[in-house]
Amino acid sequence: MRVSVALFTADLRVHDNPVLHGALRDAESVVPLFVVDSGIREAGFTTPNRAAFLADCLADLDAALRARGGRLVVRRGEVVQETCRVAERTGAGSVHLTAGVSGYAARREERLRAALAEAGRELRVHEAALTVVAPGALVPSGSSGGGRGKDHFAVFTPYYRRWREEPWRAPLAAPRAVRVPRIRSAGLPTAASLAPGAASPELPAGGETAARRRLRLWASGPLADYAERHDDLAGDATSRLSPYLHFGCLSPGEVARRALEARGPGADAFVRQLAWRDFHHQVLAARPDAAHRDYRPRHDRWRHDADEIAAWQEGLTGFPVVDAAMRQLRQEGWMHNRARLLTASFLAKTLYADWRIGARHFLALLVDGDLANNQLNWQWVAGTGTDTRPNRILNPLAQALRHDPDGAYVRRWVPELAAVQGPAVHRPWRLPGPDRAALAYPDPIVDLDEAAARFRRCRGS
Ligand code: FAD
Repeated sequence: MRVSVALFTADLRVHDNPVLHGALRDAESVVPLFVVDSGIREAGFTTPNRAAFLADCLADLDAALRARGGRLVVRRGEVVQETCRVAERTGAGSVHLTAGVSGYAARREERLRAALAEAGRELRVHEAALTVVAPGALVPSGSSGGGRGKDHFAVFTPYYRRWREEPWRAPLAAPRAVRVPRIRSAGLPTAASLAPGAASPELPAGGETAARRRLRLWASGPLADYAERHDDLAGDATSRLSPYLHFGCLSPGEVARRALEARGPGADAFVRQLAWRDFHHQVLAARPDAAHRDYRPRHDRWRHDADEIAAWQEGLTGFPVVDAAMRQLRQEGWMHNRARLLTASFLAKTLYADWRIGARHFLALLVDGDLANNQLNWQWVAGTGTDTRPNRILNPLAQALRHDPDGAYVRRWVPELAAVQGPAVHRPWRLPGPDRAALAYPDPIVDLDEAAARFRRCRGS
């Protein structure tokens, strides 16, 4: 009987999964494999929030496979070694894998291909499982071809134009049955076994079942208002699908299709955000070093003030909207996109601290923490990335008055300010003396005008 291995990575689902589909097409019997990879752990990428979410995802994937007569096979150790071992024990002829975009994923793929080839086995890599359009599928006209280390779009708008014209991969149904050969499996990992430490108190539940429920609710209602409401901080009117997309509980192609079926300006604006996700993935695939190095160096000599950075991390900068956002991050392991933009701008431009410090803090807490989206959005905000206006600064006060006009977002996350009514909550320093003195809330750690002038001076702009 022919056997193949479906090696799950960032594609923890049974619906529209090219890896599972490909493995089932290749053989009568399939090993749905997840390796708790010591390499990822050693790289420090497994944090309590993502560990808790991942444990949910694996339990849900196992249940979905069991409902189809199979199960998830779990191994712990070095991913290439463990996969080869499983292939050898089961006599598998091929291993199926989703193409990743990070340097780590590229090296994993190369090592796996070489190790399998030595034993006469084949690695089959599936593009466009992580994104709607495969990274490297679109290249600016006149260039030689995309992919790893190759040409790519460095500006979003022309990318998006091409992206909308590109035909998308046909969706794949979830398999009816999965037949798994006899093979030993470790138990499903618990959150604590994946990463020590407490997860954020308001973390969402992981897994494909929860993801599909959220997608259904989103597409049948709030999506319609997305174009007008996505920047409303207190309205919380975005999909919150990001962690499910990060772990691959949902196929981005399916999400995009479902949204477009709903039609209207909400659907268009939402699908454009999915294109941003693809855009950052194709940049990282072509330039894996952009995870750590400036994509467009601006010769910055970043300031490093440990007290300011700690105040930013703790949500004690004295700018209520910044502090609200930083506390939301800690409490939920998630932050609204508008809040990510303004807190990142505050760190990288107002405080003029190295964007890598901020990106690291976000990655430590975000349940959707993702190398492509996080690092390249940070670079975009810092002006070292793909923004065509790299020196713009988001003024936190102006942002607050615009996107939280009544102050409800701030009152929700900064209890010290809960008694301050209306937009006055954004400027506690302007309250009458006795009212201000009654608040256990810090004064601003910087003067915004001076900080903006400093940044412009440093950038020579
Ligand atoms: P929605 O508004 O409902 O958007 C739908 C989906 O589109 C999102 O789930 C996401 O997959 C994608 N998307 C939306 N905006 C962006 C964007 N700007 N770039 C790329 N994809 C986008 N997103 C992550 O998934 N992981 C990260 O680690 C991450 N770090 C970020 C760091 C900074 C400094 C900034 C400014 C943005 C970051 N983003 C990141 C992008 C964005 O903020 C989140 O994807 C979004 O807030 C998730 O909420 P949502 O699912 O409700 O988004």
